[in-house]
Amino acid sequence: MVAISPPAKVLVTGANGYLATWVLKKYLEAGYSVRGTVRSLSKSAFLNDKFAHYGDRFEIIVVEDITKDGAFDEAVKGVDTIAHTASPFHYKSTHPDDLIIPAVRGTTSILNSALKHGSTLKRVILTSSVAAVREHTTVPRVFNESNWNDAAVERLKTKGSGAGPSTIYLASKTLAEKAAWEFVAAHRPEILWDLVVINPPLVFGPSLSPAPTVDDINTSQREIYDTLTGARTSAQLQAQGNWVHVSVASVAHVRATHAVGAGGQRIIVQSGPFFFQDLLDSAAELGIPNVPRGEPGSTKGISFIINLETKKAEELLGLTTATPLKDAVAESVEDFKARGYPGFTA
Ligand code: NDP
Repeated sequence: MVAISPPAKVLVTGANGYLATWVLKKYLEAGYSVRGTVRSLSKSAFLNDKFAHYGDRFEIIVVEDITKDGAFDEAVKGVDTIAHTASPFHYKSTHPDDLIIPAVRGTTSILNSALKHGSTLKRVILTSSVAAVREHTTVPRVFNESNWNDAAVERLKTKGSGAGPSTIYLASKTLAEKAAWEFVAAHRPEILWDLVVINPPLVFGPSLSPAPTVDDINTSQREIYDTLTGARTSAQLQAQGNWVHVSVASVAHVRATHAVGAGGQRIIVQSGPFFFQDLLDSAAELGIPNVPRGEPGSTKGISFIINLETKKAEELLGLTTATPLKDAVAESVEDFKARGYPGFTA
């Protein structure tokens, strides 16, 4: 594959989403042209406000139902790269189809459109997740790109809706990513483009999207909000997560576009592991008022259970700088204040 350099055109699906809006911003700043898709034009007004000054390097189109065959046939025409981010991320599903269908069919639908109409296409970047990599574990483990969260898929098969919303999400990302790799393997002789998959853990950092009420913020920002407003039990505060700054996750998409060696790779991007208590400790260090203390310092020195290898992100994408968690907490708090969310006053 030849390097895809600006002003090459990138199709970003789900352009109004939390991560996608940052992806759009980073592509435009890097000099690329961007065509974003949204489900309805009403969701794109803020994107026009933010990015219209890029002139004809920026456009938004509507793809109402990403699961329909041919949904992206027009959208993929004339683009050099696709960054497919659109997929539901929430823990409110009551039936597996709520997430599995848009995640998997959305992915196969855009790949089918790429197969039929992507004559200018050179690379597809899929926003997967660490959800598709790491399994549940009670002993410390190191996960890398060779690992798959087959356990979530098995749990879903066994328990159906009873598996719960978290497993449904984990399985949706695993199944969607597998579907993408299987599609590429099945059509290898016919396609001139390659696939790169970005696997982020929880994405933290300020939102560029309109989210007038707390209920409108995306799931990962909501994790921070809920923790800082006291909605966590002691056990939940001792739980571990992994996170990446939204700026790093979005730059990863841009670098995956022009890094020739990234083709055919899954790439984990991470800023670091953390305990939920660390969010409270960060807020305390920052002097943020009215945030519960939890058990300050109680996670210091405790080993992380889920450890992620980030060698590929360093070697292929040059992503080397770790962002302190405290910085992301400070940025989120500023964001919550600016939006006037309960518990945070400007
Ligand atoms: P958001 O909820 O902010 O955005 C999701 C985007 O996907 C929106 O544009 C949304 O459109 C679209 N979407 C959701 N459901 C459907 C559907 N059924 N049909 C069509 N479009 C749909 O999520 P994030 O920005 O947080 O996540 C974006 C991507 O990144 C997802 O693929 C997610 O799995 C992945 N990811 C996110 C992480 C995070 O911590 N945020 C971590 C790892 C991966 P609409 O607004 O119209 O609903």
